[in-house]
Amino acid sequence: MHLFDSHCHVQLPQFDLDRDAVIARMQERGMGAVVVGTDLETSRAAIALAEQHDFLWASVGLHPNDNPAEAFDVDTFAALATHPKVVAIGECGFDFYRQAPTPEVLAEQRVRFEHHVALAQAAGKPLIIHCRSTKDTENAHEALLAVLEPLQAKGQLPMGVMHFFTNTADMAKRCLTLGWYISFPGPVTFTNMYDESIKAVPLDRLLIETDAPFAAPTPHRGQRNEPAYVEEVTKKVAAIRNEPLETILAQTVKNSRTFFSL
Ligand SMILES: [Zn+2]
Repeated sequence: MHLFDSHCHVQLPQFDLDRDAVIARMQERGMGAVVVGTDLETSRAAIALAEQHDFLWASVGLHPNDNPAEAFDVDTFAALATHPKVVAIGECGFDFYRQAPTPEVLAEQRVRFEHHVALAQAAGKPLIIHCRSTKDTENAHEALLAVLEPLQAKGQLPMGVMHFFTNTADMAKRCLTLGWYISFPGPVTFTNMYDESIKAVPLDRLLIETDAPFAAPTPHRGQRNEPAYVEEVTKKVAAIRNEPLETILAQTVKNSRTFFSL
């Protein structure tokens, strides 16, 4: 593998018309990717794709509020988590951008998240975290760390990655203190707001992603994103860190293999 997308959703309907072509472009580039579930249906679809392609793997979980009506089905997710192509649990976490953090919302999201932590502990697989705070705050991140830091103190913290990291360098450092990885998405190609966070991550804790079909990087901004565009994100991260592209390519593939036990 020469390139790795740590987080994409090629199972979603946005790819129904040309999924085979999108996946063929991944294969041409010699890339690998993790297809991430956001609810039960998309988790099952992620596994189905991973079963068909040896360069795809799956993650299963229930997003904090993409599908607020779905109750977390503990037994079904626990069974999916043991599938050999399932390499992570999530995406899960906290989202106070789409839902204001009333006490009820906080409690609901916390219960939903704690199910995923238990699943990751039981399966011995890492967590993929979605964490989105209210604009210009760190409120969702504080809620997340309020769950994780006590687990770390007890020696019960699963491995994890902060997916789509778009917060401060200080917050990046707090997440690194957990022993976790940090994954950067397409928007780093068109804003310099996260440059200091990108520089704060040690080379051996860095992952890169597209979150396709969302958040396409320059020069595809505004269009549907696809995993092959992870190359643009990787180039930009190399430029921001002032490191050779080859170094970032090789290291993020290596980190992906280590993190997801590929
Ligand atoms: Zn996602």
